[in-house]
Amino acid sequence: MRRHAPSGSLRQLGEFGLINRFRRLAGRKGVAVLQGIGEDDAAVVRLDRGRLLLLTTDLLTEGIHFDLDTATMADVGYKAAMSNISDIAAMGGIPQYMLVGVAIPEHHTVSKLDQLYKGLIIACRHHGVQLIGGDTSASACGLFICITVTGITRASRPLTRAGARVGDHLYVTGTLGDARAGLTILMTRQGRRARSTSSSEERHMRFLAQRHLRPSARVREGQLLATNGLATACLDVSDGLSGDLAHLCQQSRVGAVVESGSLPLSPACRWYATRHHLDPAQLALAGGEDYELLFTVRPNNQQKLERLAHRYRLRFTRIGSILPEARGIKVKPLAGALRRLTAGGYQHFRTSP
Ligand code: ADP
Ligand code: MG
Repeated sequence: MRRHAPSGSLRQLGEFGLINRFRRLAGRKGVAVLQGIGEDDAAVVRLDRGRLLLLTTDLLTEGIHFDLDTATMADVGYKAAMSNISDIAAMGGIPQYMLVGVAIPEHHTVSKLDQLYKGLIIACRHHGVQLIGGDTSASACGLFICITVTGITRASRPLTRAGARVGDHLYVTGTLGDARAGLTILMTRQGRRARSTSSSEERHMRFLAQRHLRPSARVREGQLLATNGLATACLDVSDGLSGDLAHLCQQSRVGAVVESGSLPLSPACRWYATRHHLDPAQLALAGGEDYELLFTVRPNNQQKLERLAHRYRLRFTRIGSILPEARGIKVKPLAGALRRLTAGGYQHFRTSP
């Protein structure tokens, strides 16, 4: 039986409670800081002549964020870079520069570290990001990678989590649930073998595993939404749709309804859910690390959004609507009444591994 968490423990506070505490300790933010601690995917700072700088940082810890049994060093480097680039994408920004801190256990070989950097640099090149510095240390317990990315925005305002209004339509890019299915596959021996085989089932498995190991940051989508003034609020789905939607609603002070039948699912994710007797909508709602963008659009901009999607061949799916805050966050199942959507998703100190 799990013991009740003692008061003042990290488990009781949770990751987000702890971040709020850090924000209070840091005190009031300066006038040039438009988005500060805990407010968005990246911080936003006003420079001279009104230009805006975006800054984001993410720490990846062996055994928490990645496991070298299921990912190669190149996968780890690629994903570490891409998850940071995704936070700039979520602000509608153009990612520019990267700093990388690594703490390395001594048993790693130089060639493994070359692979880590090769993966990282592939992700950077893909988005025109330059690696300009970092820090290196030995580690007594596991591999740590801490990445900082800066970006700028061409739009007059970055996309934030705070602008959604009642009646807005809720959209998501790409498909959801793939990364969670991919992780489960990678954790089984059959899934690891599937990386070098090729029947149709194995193709599905490979697709899902790749979605977990090599996510795409939706940089182009974020920029188009920002420069066309289309998204009223936006964030990337890193912790899982239900948890990230709760962040958007909290910052915008609104509620929302998600229509489970509208959630975009890949054929591979549907196949996986059927095979394991799972509800694919549940995978899409709870699974994290898809790095898709979740955003809101005014109803009168729906056609403009559809034209943009068509022109640039982008996948935007309407999955629900924004409600008044008092209505809370709901999910409409395929059949039956609305139910409350509990904010799942990963939260450090709270989620058991
Ligand atoms: P994401 O999942 O988009 O990377 P996080 O959940 O890591 O975002 O962070 C959410 C917010 O909390 C961001 O504004 C981030 O800068 C801030 N934050 C997280 N950890 C800390 C910390 N230790 N000190 C100050 N701010 C933090
Ligand atoms: Mg984010």
